[in-house]
Amino acid sequence: MKVDKYLDTLIVGAGFAGMYILHKQMSEGFNVEIYEQADDVGGTWYWNKYPGARCDIESMDYSYSFSEDLQQEWNWKEKYGTQPELLKYARFVCEKFNLRKNINFNTKITSAKFSKEKQKWIITADNQNIIECEHLILATGNLSTPNTPNIEGINNFKGNVYHTGAWPKQMPQFKSRKVGIIGTGSSAVQSIPVISDTAEALLVFQRTPNFSLPARHRDLPVDKREEYKKNYKKYRQLAKNSSFGIAKYQPPAQSTFDVSDEERNVIYEKAWQEGGQAMLFAFTDLLTNEKANVTAAEFVRNKIRKIVTNKETAEKLCPSNHPIGTKRLCLDSNYYETYNKTNVSLIDISNHPIEKITEKGLITNNIEYFFDDLVFATGFDAMTGAVNAIEILNDKDISLKSIWANGPKTYLGIMVSDFPNLFMITGPQSPGVKSQMILSIEQHVDFIHNLIVYKKGNNYNRVNANSKNQDQWVNHNNEVANATLYPLAHSWYNGDNIVGKSKGFMPYVGGVANYKKICDEKIQNNYEGFEFT
Ligand SMILES: Cc1cc2nc3c(=O)[nH]c(=O)nc-3n(C[C@H](O)[C@H](O)[C@H](O)COP(=O)(O)OP(=O)(O)OC[C@H]3O[C@@H](n4cnc5c(N)ncnc54)[C@H](O)[C@@H]3O)c2cc1C
Repeated sequence: MKVDKYLDTLIVGAGFAGMYILHKQMSEGFNVEIYEQADDVGGTWYWNKYPGARCDIESMDYSYSFSEDLQQEWNWKEKYGTQPELLKYARFVCEKFNLRKNINFNTKITSAKFSKEKQKWIITADNQNIIECEHLILATGNLSTPNTPNIEGINNFKGNVYHTGAWPKQMPQFKSRKVGIIGTGSSAVQSIPVISDTAEALLVFQRTPNFSLPARHRDLPVDKREEYKKNYKKYRQLAKNSSFGIAKYQPPAQSTFDVSDEERNVIYEKAWQEGGQAMLFAFTDLLTNEKANVTAAEFVRNKIRKIVTNKETAEKLCPSNHPIGTKRLCLDSNYYETYNKTNVSLIDISNHPIEKITEKGLITNNIEYFFDDLVFATGFDAMTGAVNAIEILNDKDISLKSIWANGPKTYLGIMVSDFPNLFMITGPQSPGVKSQMILSIEQHVDFIHNLIVYKKGNNYNRVNANSKNQDQWVNHNNEVANATLYPLAHSWYNGDNIVGKSKGFMPYVGGVANYKKICDEKIQNNYEGFEFT
């Protein structure tokens, strides 16, 4: 076997996770490179170019904190950065830290095999290059494998087909066109109001309504930005001490029924007017007590009923099959208001799934709907999709995918037992997707980087997660989730959005502060649960 390249560390993916660990490893003097299937950096913000795409955690929070220089130099223009602004930021980071020369673009990693003889990973890329490396780091993203449902006749459609998670570089023009959109999750909630501004007609096919709260988006006032910058140290620390990694959402002190109905409504109304996810942080028990949750859910349903003038449409938009906050909560700019436009129709497919896609549209409930362009806003094979897409074999030729057949098992969301020197950034069973992700990425990168430095410094060949510690972690993860309302929802957190995918709650919902404390304790106990040989 001819090896084309030898590396200390190979990183897969050039999103925020890949770029930061590349920077850390380069600074340490490692021979390290990224392989990225796209032709640029940015990950999520490279692929999700759909109209209206932006982050829904405020940019002053949703940004790197590792470099004081960087956070002082960069000026966010809007409260929630738009996709172009976020992509520009990713490129800026790439140039500032001189990362581009160590990134192989347009190259997909297809397989990885741990060689027993060499004690190294042998990696294959789609250009047939073979790379040998000591450490393999998967920065492949939790929401990076777009999911297109398997609907009969999907290839029959003669118009343009788009997926929000793999949007073309050249923005399609919807002016004077009839557009059909399937899905009503976060990406749909962001894109529907924008597409409806120019489309002649927009037909929204909804299986499950999701809760959406107003973002109250606006330009970021310069004085607010400068105040934040001046006090960044304090805000970043507040974020680290919180449950979800957002400075302004500190753990609440009172429970839902500590206050009267009137007082509670005033609190919800204030949160609604403020915008963002404030409502979910109003009381201690909103995500653990069903009765408490109903008070918030009903508040939002009543808002929908007030905003949407057509009573039937309003009821269809009211989520009723899951507690609020247990699926990814959407933030919107005029989402519900959009259904008052005469060019927008909502088609409820909850009881009548799409039968087939035709040349000119689709059929549901024996009715054919016609449109020129079809948009899939159908989300991702989340959390495990990108990892499972790579054939990863350990030294006994056992694939990671087979080990995860009944759901992912990890130690701290960082390693998998029997897959030595393989690391994941924000893997399943870590807080990743249930947090401000850049904060979680930074915490994981620091942990993994220091672990590798420790391993090298002590002349160990390999580090492996102990299987007992892994089992304990998986059980702990499940116990924490089962003490909440999260498992009650059919969501991508559970794998429910993918036909045939194993079901089980994947993210760690014990909060970022608790999780970091646990990780720090493992380090203090000489990397408890990690075996070095
Ligand atoms: C529309 C949208 C909005 C979001 N908004 C927020 C938000 O407001 N706040 C928040 O905290 N999080 C948000 N997220 C989550 C977001 O994914 C993370 O915040 C963050 O960008 C993830 O960075 P990453 O580097 O881990 O993964 P990604 O950005 O997904 O990058 C992974 C990269 O790996 C590459 N890759 C994968 N497999 C391979 C392979 N086999 N070979 C080569 N390359 C590969 C992909 O092409 C991709 O570029 C959002 C996600 C989406 C989809």
